[in-house]
Amino acid sequence: DIKTAVNEAITNVIVHAYPDKLGYITMKIITINNSIQINISDNGVGIPDVEKALTPFYTSKPKEERSGMGFTVMENFMDSLNVKSKPGVGTSVTMTKRIL
Ligand code: ATP
Ligand code: MG
Repeated sequence: DIKTAVNEAITNVIVHAYPDKLGYITMKIITINNSIQINISDNGVGIPDVEKALTPFYTSKPKEERSGMGFTVMENFMDSLNVKSKPGVGTSVTMTKRIL
């Protein structure tokens, strides 16, 4: 479940964050009590409307055969999902899951 969620978050950075430049992906992982918290962030284009982006089947790239299910997968495979984003600044995705 964690692998699937992380894969969706990393793929989002690769596909969406840096349309016309190279950039960094940062991954931070900590454990808190019985949970693992994973943060994946970028300094890319950002998301103008996070609430809309979280909607199942919403994608800004329908012509590239994206299904718009990445965030929905993260939400369902993890215990919590928090997305913070600012256009022109970047995106930060934090997910937690109980592991014990
Ligand atoms: P799928 O994940 O099913 O291939 P998708 O990537 O379009 O399709 P989501 O992962 O749910 O769907 O993301 C929804 C939308 O949020 C994306 O279409 C994109 O517009 C935006 N988005 C997600 N992650 C980022 C990011 N790191 N930087 C910029 N935009 C993002
Ligand atoms: Mg995606």
